[in-house]
Amino acid sequence: MTITDTHTHLYSSQFDEDRTEMMQRAFDVGISRFFIPAIDSSYTDAMLDLEKNYPKNVFLMMGLHPTSVKENVEEELAHVKKMLDKRNFYAIGEIGIDLYWDKSFLKQQQEAFRTQIRWAKEKNFPIVIHCRDAFDEIFEVLESEKDEKLFGIFHCFTGTLEQAKQAISYNMKLGIGGVVTFKNGKIDKFLNEIDLKNIVLETDSPYLAPTPYRGKRNESSYITNVIDKLVDIYGLSFEEIAKITTQNSKDIFGI
Ligand SMILES: [Zn+2]
Repeated sequence: MTITDTHTHLYSSQFDEDRTEMMQRAFDVGISRFFIPAIDSSYTDAMLDLEKNYPKNVFLMMGLHPTSVKENVEEELAHVKKMLDKRNFYAIGEIGIDLYWDKSFLKQQQEAFRTQIRWAKEKNFPIVIHCRDAFDEIFEVLESEKDEKLFGIFHCFTGTLEQAKQAISYNMKLGIGGVVTFKNGKIDKFLNEIDLKNIVLETDSPYLAPTPYRGKRNESSYITNVIDKLVDIYGLSFEEIAKITTQNSKDIFGI
């Protein structure tokens, strides 16, 4: 059985003390594919180190996270472009719009999002979208960029059934993680109306730990709690959920 964590920040300093043990726990439950989203240039070295240590299991993305879009956005985008020109990545992410933390750079966030979508299209890469308090703003950009080259993952999907359908209409799969296990997470109420072919698994470690670890540090091995919840929602076996969602991740990332 192969489980794929399509979104995990394994390079985070929160794992510096016990990264080897944490990775082993993930391998032990059957996770062998880890897709690693970028945030900004300050994490690039740590990402490359991680890849060096787990070359068969770790697949890197490159991109500028919306909460890192600030005064130095041009410099940061130049770093992303330089890295994209230099070597292979498996997606452009995580990119998008976040109006929860700070609204003052909305215009720059929109522009950075669009620029990176266009780079993804040039390279035939998927995009991995981060959206927080910004569905309308994200959909506005996707609507104008929508074509056969636009595809990817709507990471940590937390919207309504209608928003789920809209995201899927832009060739996005929904990244489902800890939120589906939350009592007030809401998406568990309608997910059975979304075909499993549109879903990939993720943890977003070290953030958003599933129940019963909610509020604690998250790690990839906790993806089993997410799968258990999907077993209930879809009435399929644990192995079937793992198999179908891993195949979906291969369709997106091309590996
Ligand atoms: Zn993330």
